[in-house]
Amino acid sequence: MKSELIPKKTRILSNFRETSDIFTLILQISGSYMPGQFVQIGIPGIGECPISVASYSKNHLKISIREVGKVTRALGKLRKNSFVYIRGPYGRGYPLVEFQGKCLILIGAGCGVATLKSIIEYIEYHREKYKDILLFFGYRNINDIIYKKEVNKWKNTFNIKIALSKENAKTCLDWDSGHITDVIAELKLRTENTGVFICGPPKMINDTVEILKKKGFNDEQIYVSTERLMYCSIGMCCHCMIRGKFTCTDGPVFRFDEIGYYKND
Ligand SMILES: Cc1cc2nc3c(=O)[nH]c(=O)nc-3n(C[C@H](O)[C@H](O)[C@H](O)COP(=O)(O)OP(=O)(O)OC[C@H]3O[C@@H](n4cnc5c(N)ncnc54)[C@H](O)[C@@H]3O)c2cc1C
Repeated sequence: MKSELIPKKTRILSNFRETSDIFTLILQISGSYMPGQFVQIGIPGIGECPISVASYSKNHLKISIREVGKVTRALGKLRKNSFVYIRGPYGRGYPLVEFQGKCLILIGAGCGVATLKSIIEYIEYHREKYKDILLFFGYRNINDIIYKKEVNKWKNTFNIKIALSKENAKTCLDWDSGHITDVIAELKLRTENTGVFICGPPKMINDTVEILKKKGFNDEQIYVSTERLMYCSIGMCCHCMIRGKFTCTDGPVFRFDEIGYYKND
C-alpha cells in the first residue's frame, strides 16, 4: 500500500464542545500541518472523513468537526485517551509565504472559521512578517460562534468583525446583525498589497468574491478553500474533481481564477 495511505493510530488529548453540533479534538501528533491542508480521520469499522487543520503547532493537531453523519457523530462521542486513525496531511494550503510583507483579510463562515484559525495561529507565530490583519467571521447566532475564548483574545491583536445572520440585533452586543457579506460590502477595504483568504459555504464564497471584485480586488489576490466529497485524498479516486482539478491534491485551497465561481457541476 502507498505509505501516504497508511493511517497512524493517534491519541485524543481532549474533546471540547464548541456548540451544540461542533466539537474540537486535540490530537497527540507531531509533524508539520499547514493552514489550509486537511487530514483523513477514521474509526475502524465506521469509516473516515476529511477534516481541515485548525491549528499551527508541531506538538499537537486541533480539528473542529460538525456532526452531520455516521463518522462525524461517532467522533463526537469519543473521549480523552480514545484512539482514532489519521492519514495526511494532504493538499495544498494557503500561500502564506507568498503573502509575507502584505496585509491579509481572512473571511470565514460557520465551520470554515476552523481553517482560518490555523492561519491566525501561523500569523501569531510569524507576526513580524505580516502587516495589518482583518478578520471577518459570519455565524447564524451567538450560540453558533466557535472559539469564543480565542475570539476574545484575537480582539486584542487583530481587527475583527463578526456578523450574526439570525440573531436579533439587540442581542448582538459587540457584533453586527446580518450576513458577513453585508458587513464587507459596507466597508472601505484597502486593495493594494493585500491578500484575501476565504473559507465557508459555497454561496458565501461566491457572494464574497463578487463584492471583493466590485471593490477592486483581482483574481490573483483571492484564495478560496473548497470542499468536495472525497475518499482517497491522493488524486486517485477522482470523486473530488472541480473543473479538471483534484480538490485533494491541487487544492483544497485554490487561487480564485483557477476554479471560478462555485456551480453544482
Ligand atoms: C478538504 C475537506 C475539508 C473538510 N474540513 C472539514 C472540517 O474542518 N470540519 C467539518 O466539520 N467538516 C469538514 N469537511 C466536511 C466533512 O468531511 C464531512 O462533513 C464528512 O465527510 C461527513 O462524514 P459523515 O460520515 O459524518 O457523514 P455522511 O453520512 O458521509 O454524510 C452526511 C451528509 O453530508 C454529505 N457530505 C459528506 N461529505 C461532504 C462533502 N465533502 N461535501 C458535501 N457534502 C458532503 C453527504 O453526502 C451526506 O448528505 C471537509 C471536507 C473536505 C473535502
